Formats: sequence, C-alpha cells, structure tokens
Amino acid sequence: MTSSLPQHSSSSSNNNANPLSSILIVGSGLFGLTTAYSLSRRHEFANTSITVIDRSDHSSPSIFPSPDAASIDTSRIVRADYADHAYAALCDEAQLKWRQQEKPTDLGAQGRYSETGLVVVGDATCLAPVAAPSVEGDVSESAHKKLSGMDYARKSWENVSSLASHNPVLAERIQELPNTDTIREVLGTGGSSGTWGYINNNSGWTDAGASMAWLFEQVKQTGRVNFVAGTVVSLEHNETTVIGARLGDGRVFTADLVMVAAGAWTGSLVDLEGQAVATGQVLGYLDITEEEQEILGKMPVILNLSSGLFIIPPTNRVLKVARHAYGYINPQTLLIPPLPISPISISNPVVSVPRTSLNDPDLCIPAEGEAELRAALKEMAPLPGLIDRPFTKTRLCWYSDTRTADFLIDYHPHWENLFVATGDSGHAFKFLPVIGDKITDCILRDCPPEFKEKWTWKEGEGAKALFTEDGSRGGKPGLILDEELNKAAQVLPAV
Ligand SMILES: Cc1cc2nc3c(=O)[nH]c(=O)nc-3n(C[C@H](O)[C@H](O)[C@H](O)COP(=O)(O)OP(=O)(O)OC[C@H]3O[C@@H](n4cnc5c(N)ncnc54)[C@H](O)[C@@H]3O)c2cc1C
Repeated sequence: MTSSLPQHSSSSSNNNANPLSSILIVGSGLFGLTTAYSLSRRHEFANTSITVIDRSDHSSPSIFPSPDAASIDTSRIVRADYADHAYAALCDEAQLKWRQQEKPTDLGAQGRYSETGLVVVGDATCLAPVAAPSVEGDVSESAHKKLSGMDYARKSWENVSSLASHNPVLAERIQELPNTDTIREVLGTGGSSGTWGYINNNSGWTDAGASMAWLFEQVKQTGRVNFVAGTVVSLEHNETTVIGARLGDGRVFTADLVMVAAGAWTGSLVDLEGQAVATGQVLGYLDITEEEQEILGKMPVILNLSSGLFIIPPTNRVLKVARHAYGYINPQTLLIPPLPISPISISNPVVSVPRTSLNDPDLCIPAEGEAELRAALKEMAPLPGLIDRPFTKTRLCWYSDTRTADFLIDYHPHWENLFVATGDSGHAFKFLPVIGDKITDCILRDCPPEFKEKWTWKEGEGAKALFTEDGSRGGKPGLILDEELNKAAQVLPAV
C-alpha cells in the first residue's frame, strides 16, 4: 500500500486525493477516539480503513477506553480560563458544542455538561517555584521565567474577559473577586481559597465518563471504525518506516499510518526524546450526605492555581477533590524498550510509566498528596463532619506532561508513517468537541497556525529533566512515586 500523506514535506497542503488506505490508532482515550470520529467524517478519508486498539479487557471488549485512562472520571473542568490565548480561544470554540443540550443526544445534554461557573484564584504569597535540579544538576532555564499561579490567574482573567468582550451577557458573567472574603461569598461553602481571583460563570464541568461513552456511541454509529481489544507491546517497522503494531497476544496489525495516542503510556511505545513524561496525579472521592449534597451541589468549581488544588461540585452524593500538580514520576526499566528516536539510535529502556489500580489493585496515593487533598477540603469546603471523613476512594490518574503544557501532535521526524498525539498535560478533556478535527488537520499537514509551534515535535529536549512550567501546577517538582509511597509506609502504623 502506498500513501501520499506521511512524507516529510513541509507543505501545509491539500493532500485530499485518497491520502491513506489504512490508519491504525493506538489508544481510544480523548485524543484517539476524537481523531477516529473526525477521520470517519472527513471526505479525505472516505476510503480509509480506521482501526482503534486499546488495552480494554477481552472479557469486556466493548469498553473503550480503558477504565484507568485519563479520559475516564466523574468530572473534568471545562474552562476557557487559560493564561495562553490560543487554548482559551480553542475552549471558547469547544463550548459552543458543550452548550448544545436541547436533544438528549446533544453532547451537553443528560448531565454531560454543567455550566456551574468556575472560581479561579491564586495566592499572592506564592512565588513562581524554581524547579528541582535535573539529573545532570542543571536547573531548567525556563524555571526562572515561569509564571506563578497568580500570574496565570491574572492572564487568564484578561483572556476570558477579552473573549467575552463582544457579548455583554457573557462579559457580565465574569466578576473580579479582589480578596478572600469575596471569594468566600461566591463559593457558598463557608470556605475560601487564595488572595485574589475571579468567577467566570461561562465555565463549568463535564461528566468525563459519560461524555466518552457518548463519543464512543457516535463513533460506533458511523460504522467506519474497527475496535480491537488488546495491548500493543511494540511498533512494527522496517528500516525506516513504521508499518504496524504488535499486540501482547502475538497479533500484528499493519497500516499505512500508525498514530500513537496512548496518553501517559505513549513513552513506553515511542521514545519521546524527553518531550513528555508520565506523571501521576492524586484524586480523592468522598461519599457525602443529602444535606451536604444540597449545599455543595450549588458551589461553582474552585481552582487554586498556586496550590493546584481544586474541587468540582458533587453529584449523586460523591465529592471529588484533586490536585493539578507536577505529580509523581514512576521510572521503570522496560523489558521491551520503546521505538528508538531514529532507525540508527538505541532507545533508553528507563521510562516513567503509569501505575494504576488496574495493574496494582492495592495502589494507594502517597501521604503527601492525601494530606494536600485534605487541606483543600478544609480550606474550600469546610463543612462540619466532612473535613475529617476518610476518602471513600483515591486514585492516581496519569498525565502525559510536556515542559510548556503544550500538546505533542505531529509526525515523527525520523520514522516514516508514524504520528503521535499525546502530551495532554492534564488539560485536554475540555477540547473533546474540537480536538479530533484539529488532529486530523495535523495529519493532513495543515496544523492550525496558532498551534504549529506549540504542538510540533521538538528535537533534543531529552537532556534536561522535565517539569511542566506553565504556572498552573501545585506540589513539588521531581517527586518519585515509589519514594513517596515508601514514606507513607513509614508514617502509617503496621496492622
Ligand atoms: C486527575 C486528572 C484531572 C484532569 N482534569 C482535567 C480537567 O479538569 N479539564 C480538562 O480539560 N482535562 C483534564 N484532565 C486531562 C484529560 O483528562 C486528559 O488530557 C485526556 O483525557 C487525555 O487523553 P488521552 O487520549 O491523551 O489519554 P488517555 O485518556 O489516558 O487514553 C490513552 C489510552 O491509550 C490506551 N493505551 C495505552 N497504552 C496502550 C497500549 N500499549 N496498547 C493499547 N492501548 C494503550 C490506554 O488504555 C488509554 O485508554 C485531567 C486528567 C487527570 C488525570
């Protein structure tokens, strides 16, 4: 099979004529599934066979994506509240679709999207942290230029205000909260957080699991996509070209183009040259009473960009508390190393890989993270009886983090017919209605101009340790999961 598309051409062209006869997508999370949907509806790919593979269990092969995917959870914030104007505008575009709620089949209907408002705050006393030294003893240059959480909050306020400026109704829904008391007032929980912020009533949250189920249904209805349950263990290639993927059970799938969209697992299949790393993030869930639901169900989402801590209003008497942080890395030596950077290199087998309750049923979160979640509860939702209640469930959820929090959506520079869509950096879910089309544009070598630099493959990033420095992260940089879990074991009494 020949293809005209995946050549290393710099033209942003109109490769509209029968570009590919087959595409294989590894991963059915947000990036993989939205791309499959977009491809199935674009005339350029009308004759292309589309296959999506995910680690879904053979016993329940209709579950896509895997339950431990970043894309599966009770909730995800939908906000145009970004310090970066391009992402703010992209969410503005996505929200037109999230707000469609008239028919039950509309994306935002049936509780999939709730526009509860979002309180964005920062702490005046928190300076931009300086990243921990890398393995080479180097301190990342950009650490010194990094925005603080407060800088991020203020830039974000400017961006959403500018986006809403064309419409007085939208503009009125954004209000500055100049101090702790005004923040407390809009929260309505008795708690507060941060020293300055604003409320954007044009933002909200989505039920992520329900939205992915909706999307999966839409994709199935196209009748165009072949879903395969199985774990890809390596990419198949000849001297210069990736030709397919090998599964753990020995099956091999070949295609004209292989797109790896394996979220935080991507680095275990493709050496990402230090551009993206899997980081584990803590989440805690609490069962609450009917009375607590009544109070907290009316709160807006609250996100403190200095601590990274956030709470999303509860539904069905379950409250979620989480932290958007530097996270924990989990470096492991892989038995099958990832595809090397180029046909003439050797890949590093030590890669940070997700550890989830699917491969470790006894997994808990480090004491450090749990203590911060507890602090968030005390600060943001200090209902009597709630603040000391044990979490019903905790979870480590995995980001594919890049230095700048920009996604990595590009052709591989050294392997023909290989495309990656990863580097979600913990903020991609809100783009569900639009990101698949943007990825398809990138496959067609027509990346949106405002994202061309941001999403491109950046060579030679591997020498420095990676910390995401967009100003939105809490916690400490450089934490290693095993070390943090061992600390927990030391402080907890043996039973
Ligand atoms: C705790 C947390 C909070 C977040 N909050 C927000 C938020 O408020 N707002 C927002 O917009 N975004 C948020 N995000 C980010 C958002 O959820 C992610 O950006 C998005 O879901 C990433 O999608 P993905 O497709 O890249 O990865 P995933 O959803 O993880 O999908 C990757 C898929 O690849 C599969 N896979 C991996 N390896 C293999 C293999 N070898 N073979 C076959 N299949 C494989 C996996 O099983 C998985 O299904 C949050 C993320 C987390 C973890």
